[in-house]
Amino acid sequence: STYNMEDIVNVCKRRGFVFQSSEIYNGFNGFYDYGPLGVELKNNIKQRWWRDMVHSRDDMVGLDSSIIASPRVWEASGHVAGFVDPMVDCRVSKLRYRADQLFFTKVELQEDGEVIGYIALLDSGDLHGEARKLAEKLKKRTGKEGTIKFPLDIKDMTKATVAELALIPSPATGEPGSLTPPRAFNLMFQTSVGALADASSTAFLRPETAQGIFTNFKNVQSTGRVKVPFGIAQIGKAFRNEITPRNFIFRSREFEQMEIEYFIPPEEEVWPDFYNKWIETAWQWLTSIGMREDLMGREVHLKGDLAHYAKACTDIVFRFPFGQVELQGIAARGDYDLTQHQTSSGKSMEYFDESNKRRYVPHVIEPSIGVDRLFLALICSAYAEDEIEGEKRVVLKFHPSMAPIKVGVFPLVKNKPEIMEKARAIYDQLKHRYNVFWDVSGAIGRRYRRMDEAGTPFCITVDFDTLEDDSVTVRERDSTRQTRMKVGDLLAFFDKEING
Ligand code: ATP
Repeated sequence: STYNMEDIVNVCKRRGFVFQSSEIYNGFNGFYDYGPLGVELKNNIKQRWWRDMVHSRDDMVGLDSSIIASPRVWEASGHVAGFVDPMVDCRVSKLRYRADQLFFTKVELQEDGEVIGYIALLDSGDLHGEARKLAEKLKKRTGKEGTIKFPLDIKDMTKATVAELALIPSPATGEPGSLTPPRAFNLMFQTSVGALADASSTAFLRPETAQGIFTNFKNVQSTGRVKVPFGIAQIGKAFRNEITPRNFIFRSREFEQMEIEYFIPPEEEVWPDFYNKWIETAWQWLTSIGMREDLMGREVHLKGDLAHYAKACTDIVFRFPFGQVELQGIAARGDYDLTQHQTSSGKSMEYFDESNKRRYVPHVIEPSIGVDRLFLALICSAYAEDEIEGEKRVVLKFHPSMAPIKVGVFPLVKNKPEIMEKARAIYDQLKHRYNVFWDVSGAIGRRYRRMDEAGTPFCITVDFDTLEDDSVTVRERDSTRQTRMKVGDLLAFFDKEING
C-alpha cells in the first residue's frame, strides 16, 4: 500500500507513539516527546542493538559518557570551528533556512483567471497547511474560491539554489530578492556551566556521542582488558541546533544516537575489510529487526565529498515518503580523532600491541545511526492499510521483537466472572515477561483493530469454551488468522515467535 507522511504522523499521534513537544503551548520546533507506545518501541530498538552489538560480541564493550564535556573536546575535534551549516535569512518572513537544503514550491496566485503573482513556499513541512492558509487569505481578499493553483504533490518541490529563489517575488513586497547571502552557522547548542556566566563558562551540549568514546579510549582500553581490534559502543542523546528541523522526527534538534568506534591497526591495507564488514553487519542487523529491504539502499560518498581525513564513507539510506535519505553512516575515519585529542591534550592515545611489541594510534571505523530516524523507518516499514470484512484497517506490521505491545488479552465478555478471572490470570502470567495489554471494552473486532494499529502481533481471547477445554483463541495480526491453543502452550509459543 502507498502512504504519505501525513498518514505516518497521524498514526504516531493517534496511537501515542510521538507527540510534538510542548504541544499545549503550541509546540516547540524540532523537539518531540515519545508516548507510551513510542517509548516501548524506542527501548526495543536500543535493547536489541545493545544485545547484538555489545553482549553477543567478544570484541565490543559499552560506554555512557557525559552529555556536557570540557569545551576543549569540541575544539580538538574540530566542532567549534567546523560544525557549521550554510544559513540564509528570509528578510520577509524573518525565517532562517539551510542554504544547501532549500526546497520550495512555486504557487501561482490568480484573480479572475489572471495571474497576479507568485509565492514561493519555502521548506515547509506542512505544505498543505500553508496552502490552505494562503487560500483562505486570498478568499478573504477576493471573495472567490479556487484562486490558488498549487502543485500539492511533494514531488513538485524543487531543490532550489539561493540564486534561483532570489528571483521569486516576496508576497509582502512583490520585489524579488529576499534572501541574504549564505553564512556559516554553528550547530552546537551553548550553555554555561557554573555560577559565573562569562566566556570561560561556555560549554556545549554534545552534537554526537562519538567524541566521548575517543576521549575515553585509554580509560576503556586499559581497564577493559580489550585488544585491538575492538569496539566501544554508546547510546545517548545528541543535540544540534538544526537551522531547519523537518520531516517529523527525521531531523530534530534533540535526538538519540547509537554509535560505535571500532579500533583497528593502522596499516593502510587493513581498514577496507573491517569497513566492508561493518557495512554488511549494519545492513543485516537492520533487516533482522524488520526494516523493509526494498526501501533500503547504499550510497557511497565520492572522494571529493569526504572530510579531508576520511578514507571512505557509505550511507545506508531509506526511502521515506519525503525522499531517499541517510539512515546510518559507516565511515573509515583513520586516526584523525585520536590524534587530534593526543595533540590537544598532550596525553598519549597510543595502544601497545603485546603480540609484536609496537605502539600506534589505532585507526577507526565508525558506524553511526540515529534512534529516532530508525524509529521512523521502522514505522514506515511496518505501515500498511488493508481491508478486513469490508472495513478499512491501518496495521503496523512490526517484527514481533520490536512491537511495543506483544500480546493483547481479552475476556470475550465482562459480565461472566469465570471468564474475567481466567483472562486476568493469563494476563498476569504474561506481563512478567512481556509488555501485554488488557482490554475489556467494545466488541472483539474493535479490540483487534485497536491492537492492529498499535502493531501488536498477537491477541488472546478467553471465551466460554475456555472454561471447558482450557484453550484460548490466538489471533495473528497480519493474516488475522485465529487458532485455538492450550493455555499451557502459550508461553512457549510467544517465546518462539517473539524472540526467535
Ligand atoms: P544529515 O546529513 O542528515 O544532517 P549527518 O551526516 O550530519 O546527517 P551524522 O553526523 O553522520 O549525520 O550523524 C550520524 C547519525 O545521526 C545520522 O546517520 C542520523 O541517523 C542521526 N542524526 C544526525 N542528525 C540528526 C538529526 N538532526 N535528527 C535525527 N537524527 C539525526
